[in-house]
Amino acid sequence: MEKSHAYRNLKICTKDCLCLFVCPTGATDNETGQIDFEKCIGCGACAAACPAKAITMIPNKMPKPQLKNEKVISKMFKIANSKIEQNQILKNLLNENKEDEKLLKALIHSNKVIIEDIIRESGYMIPQNKNTNKLLKDIQKNGDNSSKEYATNLLNKINFI
Ligand code: SF4
Ligand code: SF4
Repeated sequence: MEKSHAYRNLKICTKDCLCLFVCPTGATDNETGQIDFEKCIGCGACAAACPAKAITMIPNKMPKPQLKNEKVISKMFKIANSKIEQNQILKNLLNENKEDEKLLKALIHSNKVIIEDIIRESGYMIPQNKNTNKLLKDIQKNGDNSSKEYATNLLNKINFI
């Protein structure tokens, strides 16, 4: 089996049909507008020829995603909390003097990005996003006990992010 196959994004395809000319197997010439995965041999010629960059080569086998269970989430939050504590120290230092302002602000920003990544990789949503924030507040108000705890836990982190 080939390592990858081509995928056409119909939203940006301009239908100039260049991919039809270069494909050696006819996989791009499909009634549905999508590429025929059975015929595609993963040569990448269509992706290279497409002027609209509408074709992406996708691996046939995706790596297994990180498990998102209680243990993983609790470890991830421990790490996130250590970063939150670091940021509190950095913010205190920033209030003390302004000589290192650039460095301290850069470190705070870097920690913020790491905290967001940790939360996201743990399977949680990013709480400061407007839509997510609204959803979490709804859950906090109307959810069952465990959902309320989840929403509150996450909303409490906003102040630190
Ligand atoms: S070459 Fe690209 S833009 Fe042209 S038809 Fe194929 S996918 Fe669409
Ligand atoms: S990767 Fe090669 S075989 Fe597959 S659709 Fe594109 S040109 Fe055809």
